Amino acid sequence: MAQRLTLQVEVVTTTGLVFEGPADEVIAPGGEGQLGILPRHAPLMTTLTIGALHIKHAGSEETLFIGGGFMEVSDNRVIVLADDAERASDIDEARAEEARRRAQQQLDQAAGDIDRAALEGEIERAIGRIHVAEIQRRRRPRRELPTQG
Ligand code: ATP
Repeated sequence: MAQRLTLQVEVVTTTGLVFEGPADEVIAPGGEGQLGILPRHAPLMTTLTIGALHIKHAGSEETLFIGGGFMEVSDNRVIVLADDAERASDIDEARAEEARRRAQQQLDQAAGDIDRAALEGEIERAIGRIHVAEIQRRRRPRRELPTQG
């Protein structure tokens, strides 16, 4: 039987390798919309925006937060060079909520356009992290605590 064709995915940031593994499909936050990558995809080099990267393999799915970057597809290899990347399970949602609240508060008082653009970027990143953490939470619901009495 012919071997099933898969993609080999690597997600890298300046601090190191965040994810490495096989995939049947990758859905990435492309600069001009979501991009679905399947095996045998044509060579591609594209920018990524802030968002969720979904890596599907053998019926399961791993989701990562990507803070923008680049993606290269070639010979069934998908390389994501991200400004920031975290696996959903590594996201500290409370920290992201706090970062969003703080940036929003500063934005309400910011005078200059440059300050505003930077703060809007921070808010967008925090919202992206919260979104990915929520996806993860929905996927693996916490076990009900036993009721007392
Ligand atoms: P904070 O204001 O909460 O420190 P930040 O926006 O300043 O967040 P970044 O500069 O975007 O943080 O990222 C710094 C490092 O911390 C990066 O390596 C990033 O992956 C990680 N990081 C940031 N926020 C979170 C989070 N909510 N959960 C997990 N890792 C995070």
